[in-house]
Amino acid sequence: MLDVREVYAEPAALESPRGRQIMARLPGVRVTEVDSHWRIPSLHGNDGNIGRWVRIKTETLVLGVKRTLATRPNGRSADWIAPGPSNGCAMACAYCYVPRRKGFANPITLFTNIEAIVAHIRRHIRAQGPKPEPNQCDPSAWVYDIGENGDCSVDALVSDNTADLVAAFRTLPTAKASFATKFVNPDLLALDPQGRTRVRFSVMPPDDARLLDIRTSPVPDRIAAAADFLDAGYEVHFNLSPVVLRPGWQRDWAGLLDHLDDVLPARVKEQAAAEVIMLTHNQSLHEVNLGWHPRAEELLWQPTVQETKRSQNGALNVRYDHEIKAQSLSRLRQLIAEHAPWLRIRYAF
Ligand code: SF4
Repeated sequence: MLDVREVYAEPAALESPRGRQIMARLPGVRVTEVDSHWRIPSLHGNDGNIGRWVRIKTETLVLGVKRTLATRPNGRSADWIAPGPSNGCAMACAYCYVPRRKGFANPITLFTNIEAIVAHIRRHIRAQGPKPEPNQCDPSAWVYDIGENGDCSVDALVSDNTADLVAAFRTLPTAKASFATKFVNPDLLALDPQGRTRVRFSVMPPDDARLLDIRTSPVPDRIAAAADFLDAGYEVHFNLSPVVLRPGWQRDWAGLLDHLDDVLPARVKEQAAAEVIMLTHNQSLHEVNLGWHPRAEELLWQPTVQETKRSQNGALNVRYDHEIKAQSLSRLRQLIAEHAPWLRIRYAF
């Protein structure tokens, strides 16, 4: 997954305890100091990098200090989106929204001021008090998404940021951390979350994943890991996402649900819940993908069934036509009821 050969780092990040710890594990790696982890001209906005999209993710790491620490309300997957410990990812899902703000390369940026991030989250949780009533996020805990802009399982290969967050939530009885992942990292099994971290394994039919989920753990491996994670103290949910419409999608999602039903033990099923998320895409990412993985775009870019919407930052986002989306979600709910009736849907959109 990672074979780090170059690090771009803000000086303050290099000097921090977390930065020093990360660099101690990367002896001899070339370091280039940068003023800002957001502005690295040779990485971001350099369209010569499209052809090196995956190689940059393997070989480059960025270290930065997260300056704005803010927790945002969410209300769908989680109650709150916490300031994440990273931005960027070593995997290369063709539909990933994380690179949208970064231009042409999106390696992992690790934020080294993890103590400040944890302190901010603690303060935010304390200020909420106990959760007053159950909602779709959780019956009793405030849920904080800690991995909005990356994959915490992969981050844990190179940094203790994920471990620090799991440890912090262990001591916060009114709250729970939550992150989605497509990578099975057995190191996480040793973190002792004591039920205060929810892992959401993202799944989709394996044929789609082979084309779209580049560099991730195979879907059957993610499903097979669920019981180990539960036994290690995590809550284990599933993200059925993204749902990509194509000929045969209903048959293949039914097959995936049958597989979940066949292989998951009862103790996983009893506590499982799912989010269902239809594909959204983006014109700029479409253009980037045409440069390195055009076959994925045959699935992702389907103007006859998609509509565009300009977002607040001017980007042109693409999603399934309203009617088609509503019908597909309803069909998927039906398939879940038939093939995996134990799988509670927390939300679908
Ligand atoms: S695992 Fe998540 S963050 Fe990483 S490339 Fe895939 S969608 Fe993006």
